[in-house]
Amino acid sequence: MIIAIDGPAASGKGTLGKRIADHFGLAHLDTGLLYRAVARALLDAGRPLDDVAAATLAAERLDVESLDENRLRGAEMGEAASVVAALPMVRAALVDLQRRFAGRPEGAVLDGRDIGTVICPDAPVKIFVTATPEERASRRHRELVRRGEEVAYETVLADIRRRDARDAGRTSAPLAAAPDARLLDTTDLDIEAAFRAAVSIVENMTASSLRAG
Ligand code: C5P
Repeated sequence: MIIAIDGPAASGKGTLGKRIADHFGLAHLDTGLLYRAVARALLDAGRPLDDVAAATLAAERLDVESLDENRLRGAEMGEAASVVAALPMVRAALVDLQRRFAGRPEGAVLDGRDIGTVICPDAPVKIFVTATPEERASRRHRELVRRGEEVAYETVLADIRRRDARDAGRTSAPLAAAPDARLLDTTDLDIEAAFRAAVSIVENMTASSLRAG
């Protein structure tokens, strides 16, 4: 069973993806980490983020098993990731890796921006997770403060809005809900309630895909 979870930054899709994967005993890939790792490789090599050749090479060399989540999670990496993620060559270089991950016999949970639309358009379960920009900014702000980063809420909100605009406005695989995705608005839900809602979406969508044969 392939479960595609998409949505904007800090919508809760990463946490939900992990919990859904644990619940159904599936592997989980947070695809945002791939774009963050490409951006990190460029910054480490002192290259500008719009260096298409270097970014494509970094994407082609990416090893999904050795992503250092801790180093990739910072606020500035999200912003840098969305710059390299707008490069069509980088996206193309990461397609196979993601489809291979999804293609394991038992299936997998992938979360990102284009899983239901581009990477796994035939996934029987697609969830598009949203929340208001203000709610997402306050969640992300709490998370960054917990990590010891000193950053103002207004800065985080501005970053979220800028990233939403860049991710939704790019020409290559823009952030969008697949027509057959179920919408899950987590603005007024805590993580437990969001998790229960997501599990029931998964159960409903698998049941209807089995019925459809
Ligand atoms: O989800 P996360 O905030 O870690 O993603 C970082 C950036 O990577 C996003 O803002 C987006 O530009 C890009 N991304 C993407 N496609 C995905 C996952 C992430 O373009 N499937």
